[in-house]
This record gives sequence, C-alpha cells and structure tokens, in this order.
Amino acid sequence: MVRPNKTFTYRNWAQTFSCSPELYFEPQNEKEIVAIVQRAREHRKTVKVFGAGHSPSDLPCTDGYMLNLDRMNRLLEVDETRMVVTVEGGMRLFELHPLLQKHNLALSVLGAISDQSVAGAIGTATHGSGAGFGNLSTLVLGLRLISGTGEIIDCSAMDHTDIFSAARCHIGALGIVTKVTLQCERAFRLESIQRPIPFATMLDELVSLSQTAQHTKFLWFPYNNNVAISLLNRTTKVKSEPDSTWRITQRKNRLRYEMELYVGRYMPGILPEVEKQLWKRDYAREIHRIDDSYKVFNFDCMFRQYTNEWAIPTGRASEAIKQLNQVLAKAKYPIHFPIEIRFVQHDDIWLSPCYQRDTCYIGVVMYKPFNSNVPYGEFWTDFEAVMKSMDGRPHWAKFHCMGYEDLARVYPMLPNFMEVRAQMDPDNVFMNDYLTRHLLPNNHPVLPPEHGIRFQYSNIPLKSKL
Ligand SMILES: Cc1cc2nc3c(=O)[nH]c(=O)nc-3n(C[C@H](O)[C@H](O)[C@H](O)COP(=O)(O)OP(=O)(O)OC[C@H]3O[C@@H](n4cnc5c(N)ncnc54)[C@H](O)[C@@H]3O)c2cc1C
Repeated sequence: MVRPNKTFTYRNWAQTFSCSPELYFEPQNEKEIVAIVQRAREHRKTVKVFGAGHSPSDLPCTDGYMLNLDRMNRLLEVDETRMVVTVEGGMRLFELHPLLQKHNLALSVLGAISDQSVAGAIGTATHGSGAGFGNLSTLVLGLRLISGTGEIIDCSAMDHTDIFSAARCHIGALGIVTKVTLQCERAFRLESIQRPIPFATMLDELVSLSQTAQHTKFLWFPYNNNVAISLLNRTTKVKSEPDSTWRITQRKNRLRYEMELYVGRYMPGILPEVEKQLWKRDYAREIHRIDDSYKVFNFDCMFRQYTNEWAIPTGRASEAIKQLNQVLAKAKYPIHFPIEIRFVQHDDIWLSPCYQRDTCYIGVVMYKPFNSNVPYGEFWTDFEAVMKSMDGRPHWAKFHCMGYEDLARVYPMLPNFMEVRAQMDPDNVFMNDYLTRHLLPNNHPVLPPEHGIRFQYSNIPLKSKL
C-alpha cells in the first residue's frame, strides 16, 4: 500500500466542495482495504472512497480516512459469449471502453462523460438518455463489497439479494466496492442527428418524441425558447464527422462561450444574447455524426459548473417544463446554460431515481468562474420547488435539500435500504455529513453558502450528528 498521506486535500471536479482527511490511502488490493477499515473502526474514524471526484456535492467527503481506488483498475474476467465482464471498482469508464472494444463489446448506455470510476458511477445511478434503456446501475449483475466490519461480501440476483438491491445504487453508504460485474452488448456505432424543433412541439409531443430514437434528449434554451433534439440510433453505417473543421470550430466556440459567461457573471443583461449566439453557432442547423458508441454518448461538458438535476415521472415532464418556463420567465436571476431533458427506463433498484417509474431527468447548470462563485440559490430554490411538486427525486450525486422524511415519501424502499446499511455498517464507519443530513430523520438540509472562494465541507449546517 502507498504510505498514508497526511496532507492530502480532496477537491471535486468543479472545485465546489473540498475536505482534508486525516489520512489518505491508495490501496492496491482487498487485503489492504480490509486493514484500513478495521483500523478506522478501532480508532472510531470514518472511511470514504472517491472514484473520480466528479460528484457535484460533498457525497464522498470525510475528515477521517479517505481512499482512492485508481490502483484497482483491472479487467478481471470477460465472457464474450454472454457479453459479461468483471472489473475492479476503481476502473474508470474511459479505461474500460477500449478494453471492451477489443472484445467487440460496449456498454449499452452512458452519461455525458466517461471520467467516472465504475463503482462511483453506479453508486449514484449515473444515467444517459434512452426511454428504453436503464441507468448504469441496471447493467450491474454482481458486486463485491467490503463491509464496515471488514467482511468481504459478494452479492447478485441469486446471492444476498437484499444487499444486491441496495448496492446497485449504494451512494457510498454500504461498503467499499472492489469488483463489479457488468452486462454489455456487442460493440456498436451510433448515428446522431441533432436538429432544432419548436418549443411548443417539444411540450405537446414530449413522450412520443422521447421514443422516436433509441436515445433521445432535448436541450432547451429558456431565454429564447429554442429547443434542439438529439436522436441517437445504432447503425452499421461508416463513421463520419460533420466536416473536417468541426472539432476546431467547437474548441473556438467553447472558448468564446466561456469568455461570454465570464463577462455575463458581472453583466447578466448580456446573457439572453449570449444564449442566442450559442444557439446560432451550434444548434440552429441540423448536424449529423456517426462514430463508436461511447464517443457519441459522451459530449463536452466544457467548464466548471454548479449543477442540480431531478428525476420526475415521464408522464409529468411536459407539465413540469411548462411550470418551469413560467417561473423562469419572471425570474430576476441569470440563466447560464441550456436545460437538459433526458429519459430513462424504470428499474427495480431501491435507491435508483428511476425505481418503478419511467423517468424524465431535468438538469440545470450554472457556470462557475475560476475566481469566484455565482449566486445560484434563488434559481435552485425555484427549480427544486417545481421538481418536488412533480414527485421528483434528486440525483444523489448533486446537492439537494431533501431530508429523510421527504426522501422516504418518494423512495418507498428507503427504510429497507437503511436496514441493509445498518447490517453492513453497524458502527457507522461509512457515514459522513452528506449521508447524515439526508438519510437520518429530523435534519433539514439547506443550500450551501454561495459566496466565498470554496465551500468547505465542515461548514455545512447540521441539525444532528450521529
Ligand atoms: C462534467 C460532469 C458530467 C456528468 N454527467 C453526468 C451524466 O450525464 N449523468 C449522470 O447521471 N451523472 C453525471 N455526472 C455525475 C457523475 O456521474 C456522478 O457524480 C458519479 O457518481 C461520479 O463518479 P465518480 O467515480 O467521480 O464518484 P465520486 O464522485 O468520487 O463518488 C460518488 C460516490 O461513490 C462513492 N464511491 C466511489 N468509489 C467507491 C467505491 N469503490 N466503493 C464504495 N463507494 C465508492 C463515493 O464515496 C461517493 O459516495 C456528471 C458529473 C460531472 C462533473
């Protein structure tokens, strides 16, 4: 094991949350992890793992012992006939794609990026878009966890079934995930068509449009009510990019957009025009592309940002967008990015935001300048109110204000999850402020402070501690 580091500071990707653990480890095998967990238990310390640190919240933070599993990133088994692979939990998705491709395999769906570790991505039910496709957690066929007592537990649909139902979306609360078995499909290419459609068409035909391609998503530009629809389908056609200058133009446009948002931080009056220009440059015309699946699923998330995303029943999505449109039309706060609308099939994973309902995810984003924060509080408060009124479930990775009582109303299996948690971690080794705030009764989470260069983990107001 690499010697524990006493001066490590964790910062998430967006640099919106940080913590300074007492000790930091990069274990290379399960024996080392068991030793760390047992030592933490003896010394009454907490243990948290971060994967890629891409969660836009304090979900992986601790002031106890912190681990990263980048050194546990091997492909362990491949069954080409069943299209099933087993990987170590620290494997990053971008490392996995080329390994799968060598075996003519691929993941059926992906989110916007592939920086995440496998254990971290499934831990928050990371999703892409596709009305007939589940989130990444639904691809999990089996898991190995090291519990809070240092026990090694393998679970699947046949073995320790309750642990399996809880652990496919584990939010870091059950144990340390060292191995994950994933269902893949044969490697495939995707044909992507992005085109403008009227806002009214999106509203009137949302559900049917979400089913017109295997993977459909919308980007809604709220200042000007423009909408771009992306339609992705599997294809055997040869690869093609829009034209030879497309990538260079994209890079230039990204730089220009960031500069405009930076100025817009101080002169918000320009933001409707910034949005109009972005639309004209990148979205007002039809764009075709064909490439390997993972290259088309992923896209450029550009720069540091604050994000908030909720999962609502697909049947209420049109109503939710209408309400949000009314709220934003009257709002005095700035809006930085188009609003992303994606679709995911229902599943049976206890804490999945798609548990037993076909789901529409609505995500809002604010730009985070390198040298300051932005006031996102009013926007987030309005957004959460609309999402809550639609029986919304927040994305676990993102900051939200749902306490246990609110969550139990929309997650019927939350009490069962808590029972499995208590069994897996009787001494609360894996608890932290995030889990305390949201999973223990009688806390009333509030948004973190908006000002100041960096939000410190220990500043979160808490009503009760373990
Ligand atoms: C630019 C960007 C784009 C994104 N796009 C999407 C998207 O399209 N769709 C979507 O759903 N989400 C998206 N996300 C969110 C992201 O997918 C999730 O936050 C994901 O959980 C991050 O994975 P990670 O490996 O960075 O995990 P971390 O953020 O490091 O950790 C997440 C949780 O998993 C736990 N954990 C990590 N590794 C282990 C382990 N081995 N054992 C036990 N617990 C572990 C951590 O303790 C924590 O509780 C995006 C985030 C960013 C920054």
